[in-house]
Amino acid sequence: MQQQEQTFVMVKPDGVLRGLIGAIVSRFEQKGFKLAAIEILTIDRALAERHYGELRAKPFFGELVAYLTSGPVCAMIWQGLHAVENARALIGKTNPVEAAPGTIRGDFAMDIAGNIVHGSDSAASAEREIGLFFGRTADDHRAGWLAGLDEAHG
Ligand code: UDP
Repeated sequence: MQQQEQTFVMVKPDGVLRGLIGAIVSRFEQKGFKLAAIEILTIDRALAERHYGELRAKPFFGELVAYLTSGPVCAMIWQGLHAVENARALIGKTNPVEAAPGTIRGDFAMDIAGNIVHGSDSAASAEREIGLFFGRTADDHRAGWLAGLDEAHG
C-alpha cells in the first residue's frame, strides 16, 4: 500500500467569517482526502508568530499576525496520498490574482492579504504545524474560544 500522508490546513478568519468552512471542507472531501481532525479555535499572537515564524522578517508580518488572530480559524488535518502536494494544488497560488479558477483561492478570494486558507508547504511543515495546532501545548494558545465563536456567528 502506498504511504498515506497528513497535511495541516486552516481556514483563516476571513474564510470563517464568510461562511466558507463547508465549501472548503467539501472540496477536500470531493478530491479524496480523509478528514483526520477539525477544530474551531481563536489563536493567540504567540501561536500565529510561531506558525509563520519563517516570515518574521517580511514587511507584512505584523499585518499577517493581526489577520490570523482577528477571529476564529478552522484548523484541520487532512490525510491521503501526497496530501501536502494535493492540498497545495487544491488551494491554489498564494496570490488569488494568480490562483487558477477551480482552486479555492482562485474561486473564493481576491487579495493576497485575505487569501482565506492555509496549507502546509512540505511534509516537515505539516508535522510542525500539526504539532502546533493539535499537539500537547495547543491549549495554551487559545485566545477566547467562546468569544471567537460569538464573533464568527454574530
Ligand atoms: N502574505 C501576505 N502578503 C504577501 C505574501 C504573503 O499577506 O505579500 C500572507 C498570505 O496570507 C499568505 C501568508 O502570508 O498566505 C503566507 O505566505 P506564504 O508565502 O507562506 O504563502 P502560502 O504558503 O500561504 O501560499
